[in-house]
Amino acid sequence: MRGVVGVLALQGDFREHKEALRRLGLEAQEVRKRAHLEGLKALVVPGGESTTIGKLAREYGIEEEVRRRVEEGSLAVFGTCAGAIWLAKEILGYPEQPRLGVLDVAVERNAFGRQVESFEEELPVRGFAEPFHAVFIRAPVFRRLGSGVEVLAELDGLPVLVRQGKVLASAFHPELTTDPRLHRYFLELAGL
Ligand code: GLN
Repeated sequence: MRGVVGVLALQGDFREHKEALRRLGLEAQEVRKRAHLEGLKALVVPGGESTTIGKLAREYGIEEEVRRRVEEGSLAVFGTCAGAIWLAKEILGYPEQPRLGVLDVAVERNAFGRQVESFEEELPVRGFAEPFHAVFIRAPVFRRLGSGVEVLAELDGLPVLVRQGKVLASAFHPELTTDPRLHRYFLELAGL
């Protein structure tokens, strides 16, 4: 299958997501401008630096177009780490940071403290028979969840994987492991 899944390729670890999708037999479209969204059913937004991703997405008209498609229900999105921050309605402490605002949560950036730059966890995920090896790098957490938001995984009682309709967001980086389950779950969510 070609051309139905995209990876936002403005900044961050989009190549790792492309590789993860390739392992599932999909050649993902790199999205760098609005026109690249044409015909897509699913878009992955990588980890990286959420301020940079947000600024570029706004500047290139991608933010507006993705929002329109998600709101009309034709596009599913999966944000990981910085990508998840970009999806949120509210970014705590950064009211001016550009964001898509399609996920009804307030997100806290770098929520595990700067001293804990990164760590890995065997994370139980709702619906998965075995835990998911989750890599956290300056990870956010989701707070003040709206009623339509379902929690799929928690770490120390804090939501780190959530879903709202066809919007999926993880505080960790599934693209940095070879476990295909979360990408596969997302593709199913997108109807692929
Ligand atoms: N802390 C970064 C941010 O707020 C996200 C880190 C990541 O994507 N690994 O943008």
